[in-house]
Amino acid sequence: MNIEELRTSLLNTNKNGYTRITAEQKAEMNTYCKGYMAFMDAAKTEREATTWAVQAAEARGFVALKPGMDVKPGDKVYLNNRDKSIILAVVGKQPLSAGANICAAHVDSPRMDIKPNPLYETDEIAYLKTHYYGGIKKYQWVTIPLALHGVFCRKDGTVVTVNIGEDENDPVLYVTDLLPHLAADQMQKTGGQIISGEMLNIVMGTEPLEGEGSDLVKLHIMKLLNEKYGVIEQDFLSAELCIVPAGKCREIGLDRSLIGAYGHDDRVCAYAEMEALFNIDVPEKTAVCVLADKEEIGSVGISGMQSEVFEYFMGMLCDAQGVNMYHCFQNSFCLSADVSNAHDPSFAETEDRRNNSQLNYGVAICKYTGSRGKGGASDASAEAMGHVRKTLDDAGVIWQIATLGKVDQGGGGTVAAYMANRNIVTVDAGVPVIAMHAPIEVVSKLDCYETYLACKAIYLA
Ligand code: MN
Ligand code: MN
Repeated sequence: MNIEELRTSLLNTNKNGYTRITAEQKAEMNTYCKGYMAFMDAAKTEREATTWAVQAAEARGFVALKPGMDVKPGDKVYLNNRDKSIILAVVGKQPLSAGANICAAHVDSPRMDIKPNPLYETDEIAYLKTHYYGGIKKYQWVTIPLALHGVFCRKDGTVVTVNIGEDENDPVLYVTDLLPHLAADQMQKTGGQIISGEMLNIVMGTEPLEGEGSDLVKLHIMKLLNEKYGVIEQDFLSAELCIVPAGKCREIGLDRSLIGAYGHDDRVCAYAEMEALFNIDVPEKTAVCVLADKEEIGSVGISGMQSEVFEYFMGMLCDAQGVNMYHCFQNSFCLSADVSNAHDPSFAETEDRRNNSQLNYGVAICKYTGSRGKGGASDASAEAMGHVRKTLDDAGVIWQIATLGKVDQGGGGTVAAYMANRNIVTVDAGVPVIAMHAPIEVVSKLDCYETYLACKAIYLA
């Protein structure tokens, strides 16, 4: 063999995905991404994503799974977990003792939550106090248009949905920053201290009601909220209100190859695995799609991936077939579908270029996450990685490898460890993202589409 032949036969080469897709695939990619962008405009919180998923599932013939229900191959079922997370399944030809093919993503994203006693007035400006949720660079969340999403649960138990700042006729909300002219002291601070958590206060208004006494601006805001939503100040105590960037997602770049949106992490994978589930024939093994909440704060709580609601759902399916759920888990596989950091030439010093994912190179497979000496990582086995590699190659999916930054630079985690703890073989994979956890994150259309194809291939494996 000459050197060129040796090179091609022995060395690992990877090419930009655009050199590997056909015109037909590119058209499919664009159609898929239009659907994804519509989903993103409708679903900025876990609640909104769950609502969207329930409606989309029911429109495709999925029914709510109930204890004691009969399930047969081809049945489509779902469990709405208290409007905050959802699990869906298409029952396979083989019994659940053969295991399930699972894709698990999360639908919560970093943001600012409203505190339980948030509304106050100071110096004749009314504000809402916030508590940030997930890992954010606080200085990124000032001086941008913001929207309020969530629910009030009133004293009589009725729940009212709140959405302010998305309709083009709505006002938007705002957090202030200091003018550079007076920022001599501020600019000496470290990035984490430039804007502190207690500075993330939402400007709600400045016009006082006519009358005597204090807090007339605050009273005005409360009056407006009461007129629109029928709530009083105490209703903030039983509310879940989130501050997210206002506005729709947009194509980025003159070639429109990128999508900028709030919360690609991880709704870009959530949408991929949901659409994949909606577009498969009856699979060999039962295909399960998990859209979890609370990943950004440790997958905890009743709606997080550590919740036994997963066992509740899988237990119902297994009971219906007289299968021991532990046997099902033993033979199951899970793709933990979550985003990775895309190579950014402006910050290349934070990455190991040889092991970092890159825009337009397809779905990024990640053997381990964690920090320092792989702390907190699930760390998939060689065999598990081999299974994914073969499955994606056989299906013609464009994929690449990913690790999260240079060793000792930082780190992160996903739901992978919590699925693996259940005795389910688990591998991380997802869409590479630029500026993860920023108010507007960026992904490539090609990677979104290949992640959808990857989820499909996993369900059908
Ligand atoms: Mn994530
Ligand atoms: Mn995240």
